[in-house]
Amino acid sequence: MAKPVVAIVGRPNVGKSTIFNRIVGERISIVEDIPGVTRDRIYSSAEWLTHDFNIIDTGGIDIGDEPFLEQIRLQAEIAIDEADVIIFLVNGREGVTSADEEVAKILYKAKKPVVLGVNKIDNPEMRDLIYDFYALGFGEPFPISGSHGLGLGDLLDEAAKHFPKHGQAEYGEEVIKFSLIGRPNVGKSSLVNAMLGEERVIVSNIAGTTRDAIDSKVKVDGQEYVIIDTAGMRKKGKVYETTEKYSVLRALRAIERSDVVLVVIDGEEGIIEQDKRIAGYAHEAGRAVVIVVNKWDAVEKDERTMKEFEQNIREHFQFLDYAPIVFLSAKTKKRIHTLIPMINTASENHALRVETSVLNDVVMDAVAMNPTPTDKGRRLRIYYTTQVAVKPPTFVVFVNDPELLHFSYERFLENRIRDAFGFEGTPIKIFARERK
Ligand code: GDP
Ligand code: GDP
Repeated sequence: MAKPVVAIVGRPNVGKSTIFNRIVGERISIVEDIPGVTRDRIYSSAEWLTHDFNIIDTGGIDIGDEPFLEQIRLQAEIAIDEADVIIFLVNGREGVTSADEEVAKILYKAKKPVVLGVNKIDNPEMRDLIYDFYALGFGEPFPISGSHGLGLGDLLDEAAKHFPKHGQAEYGEEVIKFSLIGRPNVGKSSLVNAMLGEERVIVSNIAGTTRDAIDSKVKVDGQEYVIIDTAGMRKKGKVYETTEKYSVLRALRAIERSDVVLVVIDGEEGIIEQDKRIAGYAHEAGRAVVIVVNKWDAVEKDERTMKEFEQNIREHFQFLDYAPIVFLSAKTKKRIHTLIPMINTASENHALRVETSVLNDVVMDAVAMNPTPTDKGRRLRIYYTTQVAVKPPTFVVFVNDPELLHFSYERFLENRIRDAFGFEGTPIKIFARERK
């Protein structure tokens, strides 16, 4: 089910990124060390009390050399295009400015709910400053303080009142959803076309069932698939659609709606930093991943080239060691037919549930082979392991003290579990819990 999307708009320095960070919180990430993944955030999932949603900081989307007012205007348009609810943020200490009025004008035209947040109201004595903002025409202004974390609950409760009642009609559980992610010109559209052109692939286009997209529905050997966000790959001609941050935003949203993500790399150009960042998002989102090296026809090669390229990928994408790699060409169609089987395998593993008794045998054998670590004289004890979720497979290990399960031992357990059950193409997650 697609989560509601909230976007924050407003002129610079009103506190958008402060509020964004507050709401997103210190989300602990397993890939914190991957460059670019946690820095520079403009989009994240968030939970606030009982609300579960995604949030965009449109202020983080800089649009080329556009002049100041034009930037703000385009950011407001992005919010209108992408969000279910818009938080319009202003600075309570400066009163209504002409830039605020510009933003307001654009938001009037949108048929999207707008909640007005008046920021920098750091103490109750400043509350009277909000009254000026009624003039903007969005009803009751909500006093908040990003730096002190005040008032955010009320603001988000108001936003949540406007969340769509039933999540968007997405697709059935039995349908495999996948997307192609990669920087511009790696060949994503060409790959989709090459796949759609295959003999066994029966295409049935579906009119936009979700607000996003014209997804493509296909059937291969009786299995249904949806190629997510193919609309996002088309050039639709809005100014901001060519900017990097916006394409990252689209990619993130496509990843989120997918079971399997094909991370597409240009074999001719090799791996660049942006590829890593994009792959990092897929990993972090817990999606199954297949690495696709496209344009292999254009690469001059001998018998070692593929091996070397593969090693290069493994070095750069250490966090994706579970992802299979395929070298192919959208142009010549070479090995295009291997994609569907790879997607199937990754998707099966992503949804795989293992038997608890077998799982515990595997973990106990692992412990017998490599005794649990000790820390300050205390030894980690593992009592019991259970799989608590799929997509991705998630395991809880009940132990005497979670602090004693260090990263390296956790990694060892993961490898043993992978050796036993495969899980090719999918990340797995392991958490330690104290057995009471
Ligand atoms: P953005 O450009 O809208 O994303 O604004 P920022 O989040 O970068 O904030 C701009 C400045 O306002 C920074 O110096 C923040 O520390 C400050 N700021 C943000 N929220 C508050 C607040 O609630 N109270 C006060 N006093 N300052 C704030
Ligand atoms: P996208 O921006 O990722 O969707 O990339 P496109 O599918 O638009 O492709 C970008 C360019 O790469 C186009 O000029 C394609 O013709 C070219 N291209 C795509 N796939 C291949 C391939 O397998 N081999 C070669 N040589 N060129 C390709």
